[in-house]
Amino acid sequence: MSDARRRLPGVDVLLASVPFRQLLQRYPRGRVVDAARQALALIREEVGLKGEGALPEGDEGYAGRVGQLLESWDLPSLRPVINATGVILHTNLGRAPLSRAAREAMARVGQGYSNLEFELEPGGRGSRYVHCVRLLRELTGAPDALVVNNNAAAVVLALNTLAAGRGVLVSRGELVEIGGGFRIPDILSRSGAVLREVGTTNRTRLADYRDGVAGGDVAAILKVHRSNFRISGFTEEASLADLAILAREMDLFLVHDLGSGLLADPEALGLPAEPRAPDSLRAGVHAVAFSGDKLLGGPQAGVLLGEEPVMEAMRKNPLCRAFRVDKGTLAGLEATLKQYLDPEEALREIPALRMLATPLEDLEARARALAEGAAGGGLEVLPAPGTGVVGGGTCPGVDLPTWTLRVRAAGKSPRELALSLRKGTPPLVARVADDDVVLDLRTMDPGEDETVRVLLERFRRVVG
Ligand SMILES: *Cc1c(COP(=O)(O)O)cnc(C)c1O
Repeated sequence: MSDARRRLPGVDVLLASVPFRQLLQRYPRGRVVDAARQALALIREEVGLKGEGALPEGDEGYAGRVGQLLESWDLPSLRPVINATGVILHTNLGRAPLSRAAREAMARVGQGYSNLEFELEPGGRGSRYVHCVRLLRELTGAPDALVVNNNAAAVVLALNTLAAGRGVLVSRGELVEIGGGFRIPDILSRSGAVLREVGTTNRTRLADYRDGVAGGDVAAILKVHRSNFRISGFTEEASLADLAILAREMDLFLVHDLGSGLLADPEALGLPAEPRAPDSLRAGVHAVAFSGDKLLGGPQAGVLLGEEPVMEAMRKNPLCRAFRVDKGTLAGLEATLKQYLDPEEALREIPALRMLATPLEDLEARARALAEGAAGGGLEVLPAPGTGVVGGGTCPGVDLPTWTLRVRAAGKSPRELALSLRKGTPPLVARVADDDVVLDLRTMDPGEDETVRVLLERFRRVVG
């Protein structure tokens, strides 16, 4: 052992020193002891690697290290970050940011008690599943609706209710993995239904489904929206309307896993035509399922729309209890849905829609304003056009034109620079492309520009 490591003080000695008295006033003694032990272990390692120079300066130096550790322990594990990746529905970053109305509704209902499962008029037990139904019916024309935890749960619930122990026809072109472990064959088998593959990867005709039915004991057809990839070239698929006719003829259920719950007009968002839930219902599906936190722009939820007896059977399924939705989610979803009653309000107030609809000129102006004054002292910040994506397993192949800041720091690789930005307060999550760190203005709220400016300035002082 080197002499330097032998010179490390003991925990008791540190705790008795003057600078540690302040820490002991701010934190419980047990936590300070734990932090001091951990800090000493870290310092011992550093001294082993770097030698004498790694020893802190006096008791002050040790108290500083221990204080930093205690502060980092106090940070919540789950906390806000700035999304500069250009991916609007970034699953790892929490998908859709919520509108102010949704956030306020969630806070209000979380503050105290609510009529979650209570009917105020007769004054007695009610059902949590009534809460978003009227709005969902009004906005989509659905006869009935059911909200559960997420779309994966919605699909499992639908298949388990309608086809447990029996066959479900799925096109081989739709046996997809959506990401985050959602694989159609696995989900289907866990629902208790039996997968019956029909057609081929690129072509599945109505006749293939007919052959599938002829194979015996089929309860349902599952149609899955290929939401995160595209197949092109020599392709063919049976339309939802044709499948609906076949399903009625053969006495089967037709379930549509739509994925993203776009309710807004895709044209107003600059998106190509996307299938929407009302289209599925008009085509004649028995149930359509989609997420609350993709293009709908609300909290994590799974929404099922369809005929009343089908929804009622799902509500009565014990699995529905296991997938039941939280009061905060219902409050946030209801507030988000309400904003769709006025389509202009939805575009203005729901962040995911607002980001999609932001004109390129606005992004360019913000990029130029941020770049101005941010560069200097070893930091290079250049405004540049770029492309982002919708993300969240939606709109594959759709590039969103955007404006970015391309950042370089003298003496740091782009990966090191990106790491430093992620370690900031708040963390700033950016992409690395070529030799630059790229900040995409489309996914950054204009209200965050000032924070980004401060973060870059702080960083410039460090590298400068
Ligand atoms: C996203 C997606 C899912 C999973 O939805 P979650 O809300 O994340 O559970 C299922 N199916 C499709 C087609 C999807 O796009």
